[in-house]
Amino acid sequence: MIVAIDGPAGSGKSTTAHAIADRCNLTFLDTGAMYRAVTWRCLDSGVDVSDGDAVSAVAERAKIVFGKSADGQTVSIDGQDVTRQIRTPEVDRNVSVVSAYPRVREAMVARQRELGAAGDVVAEGRDIGTVVFPNAEVKVFLTADAAARAHRRAVQREGGDAGRDAAAKADAAEERQILQDLVRRDKLDSSRKESPLRPAADAHMIDNSALTPEQVVQQIVDLMDAARAQGEAPKAGEVAPFDDGGERTSPSPAADGGAADAPAGARAKDAAAEKGAGKPAAKAAAKSKAPAGRMRAFAGNSFDDYYDHGMKEFPLPARALLAVAATIVWAVTKVLWPWRIEDVRLLRDDARGRMIVMNHTSMLDPVVIVCGLYFHGIRVRPISKSEFNKTDFVSWLFSRAGAIPVRRGTADLKAVRRAQAALTRGECVLVFPEGTRIKSDDQPVTIHGGFALMAQMAKAPVQPVAIVGARDITPKGTHWKRFGRVFCKAGECIEFSDLGVRGRKQQALRMEEVAMERVYALRDELRREHPGKM
Ligand code: C5P
Repeated sequence: MIVAIDGPAGSGKSTTAHAIADRCNLTFLDTGAMYRAVTWRCLDSGVDVSDGDAVSAVAERAKIVFGKSADGQTVSIDGQDVTRQIRTPEVDRNVSVVSAYPRVREAMVARQRELGAAGDVVAEGRDIGTVVFPNAEVKVFLTADAAARAHRRAVQREGGDAGRDAAAKADAAEERQILQDLVRRDKLDSSRKESPLRPAADAHMIDNSALTPEQVVQQIVDLMDAARAQGEAPKAGEVAPFDDGGERTSPSPAADGGAADAPAGARAKDAAAEKGAGKPAAKAAAKSKAPAGRMRAFAGNSFDDYYDHGMKEFPLPARALLAVAATIVWAVTKVLWPWRIEDVRLLRDDARGRMIVMNHTSMLDPVVIVCGLYFHGIRVRPISKSEFNKTDFVSWLFSRAGAIPVRRGTADLKAVRRAQAALTRGECVLVFPEGTRIKSDDQPVTIHGGFALMAQMAKAPVQPVAIVGARDITPKGTHWKRFGRVFCKAGECIEFSDLGVRGRKQQALRMEEVAMERVYALRDELRREHPGKM
């Protein structure tokens, strides 16, 4: 098996890849060390790093060999052990210039493929999933916010380990300097022409800002298990429906709608909750696929029970509560923001489980769809970001309302399987592919395409819905709510078989595009029908 781990500087790739190599008995390939070794050689032998030909000649001649010592992996270039030397700030400063030369990359990639030819490799770098091993069975793109990465590096330089010791301190000036260098290096690595740093389209995004190294390793090991079990790992956006990898389908420039903007505390709590659940994602995913046992008639059901069961199987008190809450919310919102769903028959007269996708402007959006269909006997399960579940009360409330939490920025197989199960049961699943509330037309938008995979796995159609007017309820920058009419419009279901493309992956990608095009077309129709409504 080949496991490809890419990501920016300091995102924890080495620690993760190392741990996976140890745990799963794979060969660890640190490709950054190779570019560093070439850089060190140039600096040591007085080659001007701005001279592309001279640097390329060094790279093409270089004999880079990895070895082992009591302290871990060693690297040597032309017979000289440079394990320590390649980690100096001077190498840090120059390596991105060196690694941008096409001939340098060509020489390194050839050597990397040689080293990986025997298989059973975990390789980390910037272009592993995109260029070096595009057929890797598992591809991961590790991210963490720049401040977290700089802090880890600073602590590391002082001999500590911020992954294990959350309170570890580092010299503030040094940390600032490291942060500046990281940002600069990220920029160079991402903007270079040749193999820029970017996630492969089928990479799993993992934001590890608030995860321990063990949690990250566990997620990847779960993906490896899933890949082995399925013969093919579930693909990227496929798995993290609200992840940060929005490069595939962005009708407008990308917004930072991913988990990185979640408060660190929320993410940490989420991670802790996940740990508390104590189930590796793939196993839990497999488990959630099988119908769980019956729910208890009254108390004693866990949040997981609610996520894993059909809403009609919820215990009587929960169903009664939902009926009362839906009635009150329906009545109150109808008075304050008289809302109407146009062409509601398209939503109402279809008994199949459907993936409903919608533009997202305010908290009223899910209310309109959930309540609007509730009284027609259709249960809609919104996919909610797990950052909402900050307190047990909120988790309690959302679980009773049928929400399925998704951990954004991670390969959340559990959420995918739950959505798949709901659709297969005939429930509708509501996803806001924009990931975050869009408050103005100038706001950049990233489309998170996981909804197509969920629908595809459940063989369910995707139904576009648009809303206008709800954005005006809470004007940007205030918490005040305004009165006003809200209009929603349903579109015809889109079937995978009607997309005119073949192949599972192509169909999912096409569905992402077509579904959002329809959502925006419906929104524009509503705007024309109701001038002034945004
Ligand atoms: O991962 P590490 O920080 O050791 O990588 C050092 C540098 O090597 C990166 O900043 C990048 O410029 C380069 N690199 C690369 N492609 C890789 C690995 C590293 O361009 N696959």
